[in-house]
Amino acid sequence: MTHLSDNKMSIRQNNVNVHDLTSGAKAAIRDGISRAFRENLKPPPKLDLVEWADKYRKLPDNSAEGGQWHTSRVPSARKPMLSISDPKVQEITVMSCIQLMKTELMLNTALYFIHQEPSPLMYVAPKKEIAEAWSKERFMKSVKATPVVAKAFSGNRRGEGNTILQKQYAGGQISIVSARNPDDLAMRAVRIMMFDECDKYPVNTGAGSEGSGGEGDPIAIAWGRATTYGKRAKKITACSPTVQGKSRIEAEYLKGSQEVYKQRCKHCGELHELSWSDVDIPVDKETGELLHSEACIVCPSEECGARWSEGDRRWSIDNGEWYAKKPLVTWHHSYKVTSLASPFTPVVVLAKEFMDAGSSPQLLKAFYNTRMAETWKEVGEQPDWLEMYNRRENYEVGTLPEGVLMVTCGIDVQGDGVFYEYVGYGRNRESWSIDRGFLAGDIRTDTFKAEICNTLFDREFHYPNMPLKAERVCVDSGAYTQHVYNLVRDYNNTRVVAVKGMPSETQTSIISTPTPVDVFSDGTRHSRGLKLWKVGSSTLKQMHYGFFNHVPPTDEQLSKGAKYIAGYCHFPEYEEEFFKQITAEQYVEIEDKKGFVSYQWEKTRKDNHYLDCRSYARAGASMLQVDRMTEESWDVRERAYYHPEERVTESAVDYSGDITDNNESESRVNNRTSKSNWLRNRKKH
Ligand SMILES: [Zn+2]
Repeated sequence: MTHLSDNKMSIRQNNVNVHDLTSGAKAAIRDGISRAFRENLKPPPKLDLVEWADKYRKLPDNSAEGGQWHTSRVPSARKPMLSISDPKVQEITVMSCIQLMKTELMLNTALYFIHQEPSPLMYVAPKKEIAEAWSKERFMKSVKATPVVAKAFSGNRRGEGNTILQKQYAGGQISIVSARNPDDLAMRAVRIMMFDECDKYPVNTGAGSEGSGGEGDPIAIAWGRATTYGKRAKKITACSPTVQGKSRIEAEYLKGSQEVYKQRCKHCGELHELSWSDVDIPVDKETGELLHSEACIVCPSEECGARWSEGDRRWSIDNGEWYAKKPLVTWHHSYKVTSLASPFTPVVVLAKEFMDAGSSPQLLKAFYNTRMAETWKEVGEQPDWLEMYNRRENYEVGTLPEGVLMVTCGIDVQGDGVFYEYVGYGRNRESWSIDRGFLAGDIRTDTFKAEICNTLFDREFHYPNMPLKAERVCVDSGAYTQHVYNLVRDYNNTRVVAVKGMPSETQTSIISTPTPVDVFSDGTRHSRGLKLWKVGSSTLKQMHYGFFNHVPPTDEQLSKGAKYIAGYCHFPEYEEEFFKQITAEQYVEIEDKKGFVSYQWEKTRKDNHYLDCRSYARAGASMLQVDRMTEESWDVRERAYYHPEERVTESAVDYSGDITDNNESESRVNNRTSKSNWLRNRKKH
């Protein structure tokens, strides 16, 4: 041990000896070494993008703030900029509000690599006109304003491989291309790829007028050309998001580290991820008007709840921090930032914009996309099943709550049975679910057909004054078509009809004039043997969702005489599954291969049968003219069903003649006979 210690000691002695020189000699050695490093051994230490921009980047005079770039002006831009120059990070996604950092981030990236790491660059715009404008108005002006970069372009003349969209510089070139041109995207190997406004790219680039022959996703095509550069290749993607589930920038964001810019409350010191719901727009107590000029952010912390001044908000931005939801994704940094973190957009301006958008879905979509950097759920916003579940009322299933003046039924046919819902309707388009369920059986068998007739078609409901079957039963004939036709035809009563749901492109009305269809039974063809009612499913679902999203009055409001909002849907204490099914679809924007936008219902859960049942039941109510019913007509029904002592004034009744026991199938449509007989007959029971 001693020996070893001695050894160490002697080494230390030697070291001391080396350093024990005169200070002049030391300085000479140090200078020599650093000169050697500077000139021969090592390239100059590279600057990161923030250091570089703060030192070299000059904004053109025509920009809002000409002169030297200062990253500190947009504190949230600092970390995304560092990611761009970080060799360990290959992909950078910025899902950002407008007018904050996207434009300058792209320009800084291009100029930085041209000066610091000359390599082939590509900037991809949604279309050629935008690419040209970017080249002339943004890029070249920024190049000229920034001397170290301008130098790289000196001696660069038109012709010689230089155009508006293709520019050579010392050590590389930059291609400025349209996402609509697959040849340009795949032109050559590129190391630094910048995808700007990527949500406006076509889904399938280069597709013909019928959507054929395209080459696929423009980002995938272009990024595929970067493979030669391996991990040195970089992909920078920036945009405001668009529609949920369809937004390319959102998809990119979700693949990355998912960082949000949290703002610090000056009052409690906590960091918060803010959303638009944290902005309070006060209401004028006298006029009921919203006062956008007094809008402010309210600290989301329950103990704090401070109302931020605009100065507090600026402070919150300067003292904000990025927070990664997926910190383990180190090779792809993705960022989301909203206008609430923008030093350039006061909250009152945002509040004004929000109010101006009013209830226009298009303007609100633009507001959430471009200001809150949020994707937009399309119209027909999916109601929350749990909220509906929690609003259940305690009337007994199978009974008719007061207010019900019409009952219809919708039946959805499946391979192993049928789903059904009975719905009661009343004044003011209010409705009550009366009963629902699943009857198991095979519709191809006569026994099950008979069971459907006995248990569903013939079921009676009891008004105080009389029992009554559902006035319309609509059976879906989309599947097992001929079996449904036979079932309906054999039952032979205009109360029971075959329906077929139609997509929105084909039908926007709730019901259309019924059309005759051929029925085949036991090998016999009954030409025009039945009338089929086509039902506008998409229109109906939009209507239901509008109604389902209505909030009921509070008990207190009700006790003071408040009414349910028109169209309100009441439900008894059904199981969860019912509410999950009745909200199981959402209406989404679809972009076709040519870039045309349309809307379509998509299932979000496997089973949506009760939503279909509700649509068919409502179609039945429309057949009974529920939307055109006058107060007098409702009065007639009310007296007949609820007040036996009063005489029915038959002349006031207009059920469009559809309520009848007439058995002639050919006269099922627009049959205006027998209604009063029917009513009298029923009253005798
Ligand atoms: Zn606070």
